[in-house]
Amino acid sequence: MNVLKFGGTSVANAQNISLVIDIITKASQNKKLAIVVSAFGNTTNMLLKTAELAAVKDEYYRSLLQEIENRHMQVVKDLIPVTEQSAVISHTKRLLNYLETLYEGCFLLRELTPKTLATIASFGELLSSYIISEVMKVRQLDSNYKDSRELIITTESFENAQVEMKLTQENCQAFFEKNEKQIIILPGFIAATPNGETTTLGRGGSDYTAAIIASAVDADELQIWTDVSGMYTANPRIVKQATPIPHISYQEAMELSHFGAKVIYPPTIQPVLHKEIPILVKNTFSPEQEGTRITKNPQGKQQAVKGISYIENISLLTLEGSGMIGIPGFSKRLFETLLAEKINIILITQASSEHSICIGINDKEASRAKMALDETFAYEIALKKVDPILVEQQLAIIALVGENMKNHQGLSGKMFSMLGKNNVNIRAIAQGASEKNISAVINSEDAKKALNALHEEFFEEKIKQLNLFVTGVGNVGERFLAQLKQQHEYLREQLKLNIRVIGISNSRTMFFDEEGIDLDSWKDKLAKGDKASLDEFYETIKTHNLRNSIFIDITASHDVSKVYGDYLRNNISVVTCNKIACASEYENYQNLKRISQKYNAPFLFETNVGAGLPIIDTLKNVIASGDRVHKIQAVLSGSLNFVFNNFSNQNTFHDVVTQAQKEGYTEPDPKIDLSGVDVARKILILARESGYILELEDIENNSFLPQETLATENNEDFYASLTKHEAHFQQIFKEANDKDCRLKYVATFEDGKAKVGLQHIPSDHPFYNLEGSDNIVLFFTDRYVAQPLQIKGAGAGAEVTASGIFADVIRIGKF
Ligand code: ADP
Ligand code: ASP
Ligand code: MG
Repeated sequence: MNVLKFGGTSVANAQNISLVIDIITKASQNKKLAIVVSAFGNTTNMLLKTAELAAVKDEYYRSLLQEIENRHMQVVKDLIPVTEQSAVISHTKRLLNYLETLYEGCFLLRELTPKTLATIASFGELLSSYIISEVMKVRQLDSNYKDSRELIITTESFENAQVEMKLTQENCQAFFEKNEKQIIILPGFIAATPNGETTTLGRGGSDYTAAIIASAVDADELQIWTDVSGMYTANPRIVKQATPIPHISYQEAMELSHFGAKVIYPPTIQPVLHKEIPILVKNTFSPEQEGTRITKNPQGKQQAVKGISYIENISLLTLEGSGMIGIPGFSKRLFETLLAEKINIILITQASSEHSICIGINDKEASRAKMALDETFAYEIALKKVDPILVEQQLAIIALVGENMKNHQGLSGKMFSMLGKNNVNIRAIAQGASEKNISAVINSEDAKKALNALHEEFFEEKIKQLNLFVTGVGNVGERFLAQLKQQHEYLREQLKLNIRVIGISNSRTMFFDEEGIDLDSWKDKLAKGDKASLDEFYETIKTHNLRNSIFIDITASHDVSKVYGDYLRNNISVVTCNKIACASEYENYQNLKRISQKYNAPFLFETNVGAGLPIIDTLKNVIASGDRVHKIQAVLSGSLNFVFNNFSNQNTFHDVVTQAQKEGYTEPDPKIDLSGVDVARKILILARESGYILELEDIENNSFLPQETLATENNEDFYASLTKHEAHFQQIFKEANDKDCRLKYVATFEDGKAKVGLQHIPSDHPFYNLEGSDNIVLFFTDRYVAQPLQIKGAGAGAEVTASGIFADVIRIGKF
C-alpha cells in the first residue's frame, strides 16, 4: 500500500482537484492507496481568522464565513453532476451549519478556548475530504471515506496534540486489515482524544497524518504531493535559482524542515524513519518531474551541503554575567524555567568561558520568557552576579544542512566569509557536534540576501549575479545599457557573471524591477516610472537589500556625488564617471576610500580620467607593485583636444566648440572643459591615486579663456562670449601656427605640484600627433626611467566612457 498526501494548493479549487483525481486514478491501478488531504488552500487560515473576529464581537466574521461556504459550495457544483448534487450539498451545508453554530457560540460568549479553536480548524479538512471523497465516487473509483479522528488518538493539548502512537497504530492496523476498498480517503491534520474530542496536529500537520498512517500500515512509500517539485536546495519562493534535491536522507530532511523548509512538516519524518519507508515529495502540477526521494542512505555521490533553510521571527535571549563562570546549575535553571513555561528552544550557544548562554526562541514568546527568567535569576541579578536577560528581536536563523559536511573542511569558513562579504551581521552561531547543521543568527531584513548569497556560494558556484542601479541614463547611460544587453550572454558564458539592471533613474523618473529590467523596453518603463528622487532611489535599493548591488552614477551632479558614502556603508558598491567626489576635498575622497574598504564595497571611478582608457587601474597596479610615481605629463581633455585639433583660421572657435558638444565630447556645461577645471580635476585625481595629498586649489590653472567668458553663468552667455572674443582665439592659434607648433592643453604633476594650461607643442614631441579627442598620459616612475609608461587613445565620447563603466562593473564581478 502507498500513502499519498495532497496539500492545500493541490486541492485549492475544482481544477486542481481534477488533477489530484487523475494522479490517484493512475496510482491506484496497481496499489492500494490511503489518500490524506489538507483543507482547500488557505481555508485553515480563514477559519482561524473568522474565529478571532467572532470572539471579539466583530460582525465581519459573518462575511468571512460566507466566503468559506461559497468556496466549498462552488467546488461541489463544479465537480458533482447536477443529478447527484443534492445529497452532497445538503451534507456540506450540515457541516457548515454546525460550524456556524460554533462561531455563534464564540460571538455570544466572547470566548475562544483552544478546544473550540481546534474543533473550528478541523472543519477545513472535514469539508475537503468529504467533498473529494464524493467526487471520487462520482468518478467511480473503488473508494471509501474514513474519519481520521477514529484512528489517530492524541493527548488533550488541542492545537498541537501529541499522538498516542501505540493506540493509533493498533486502530490503523485494525481498520486497514479489514478494508477491502482500493482507495481510502482521510482528512489530514485532525485527530481526537480518547474521549472523542477533536484535536489538531499543529499547522501543516496533514503531512504528519499521512506519515502516521504510512508507518502503522507498513506502507511501501509515503508520497507528499505539493505545489513545488520536491524539497529544494532553498525555498524556491525566495531563491529563484534553487533546484530540487533528487535524493536526501531522513536526517537531512528533518534538519531542513526543522529549520524552515515548510514543504515537510517537521514531525513527519519520525514515524517512517524507523521502518525505512521512503518519502517521495512530488509536484501535483508537474507529476512528470522526479521530485525528491527521502531515504536512510541516499545512493551515489552526495554533495556536502544539501540545502539551506531559514526561520524568521526569532528572538535571542542572553543570560550573561561574571557570576556564572565555573558555577554549575545556571543552564539547568534556565532550561527548567523555559520548560515550565512550555517555551520551545530553537538554538543554544554557550561560549567556553561560560560567561554567557544564548538561546534562540520564537519572537512571540520572548517577553514571557524574559519575565520568567528574570524572576528565576532575581537573586543573582540583585547581587549583580548576572545581568537582566537581554532580548534581541526580529532575527532569523539561517542554516546549512548536510550529513556529509563533517567530512569537509572549511565549509563554515566559507559560510561566514560569504555573509561577511555581504555585510550580513552575525549575532550568534551554532554548530552541532554531528555537523549536520551549521546555523547563524542574523537580522531578519538580511535573510533574503544571505540565503541568496549562500545559495550562490554553495550551489551556483559558477554564476555570480550582479545587481545594478543606474542613475543618469542620458547619452553615456544609454550606451552603457546597450552594451550590457549586447554582452549579456557572453558574460554569462565566459565570465560566469549574470548582470541584471534592477533600478534606473534620470532626473525626471525612476523605475525598479527586482527580476531585472528588460533592456529592450527600459525607456518606456522609465518614462512611466515614479517621480525621480535621490532619497527614494537610495531607500528602495536599501529595501531590496540584494547581494552584489552596484550603484552607478552616470550624471555630472553635485547632489548625486554626495550620496556615495551612504551606499558604501550599506555594502553597495559605487561606480562613477562623475569626477566631483574624487576631486572634492582630500578628506572626503580619502573617507570614501576608507568606507569602501571597511564595508567591503568597491568604489571605482576609472572613467574619471581618460574615459574608457585603463589609466587609474594601471596606476593602481603600478603602486601596488611597489613602484613610485614622481612625474605625470598628460593631455587629459578629449574635448580640448578635439577643439584645438579642429580649430584654425578657416573656422570659428564658437563653431568648433558647438560641434564638440554636439558629438558628446564635452560635459553638459562646456565651460567646465574649456576653462581647464575638468583637466585640473583629472590631474588632481591621478596625483591622489599616486599617493599624494593635494587639493584642487593647489593646482595652477592658466586658463586661455578671457575673464569675461570665465564669468558667464549659462551656456547661452558662454557661447555668445566665445563669438565676441573670436579675435582672441584666432590670436592664440596664430602664435602657435607661426612657430609650427600645435596647441595642447597639458597637465603636469612634478615635485608634488600640479599645473594645467595651453602649451605650444613642437613636432618632435609625443603630444604633437595626438588626433581627434585622444588622451595621452606619461607616468615617470622609479621603474619606468628611460621611457615613461604611456597610455594613449580615445579619451572622450559616449561609447568609450560607457565601456569604461562596464569595465569597472566587471572588476567588481571578479572582486
Ligand atoms: P502544502 O500545502 O502542499 O502542504 P506547503 O505550503 O506546506 O504546501 O509547503 C510547500 C511550500 O514550502 C512551497 O510552496 C515553498 O514555498 C515552501 N518551501 C520552503 N522551503 C522549501 C524548500 N527547501 N523546498 C521546497 N519548498 C520549500
Ligand atoms: N490545513 C492545515 C494547515 O493549514 C494542515 C495542513 O495543510 O497540513 O495548517
Ligand atoms: Mg504543508
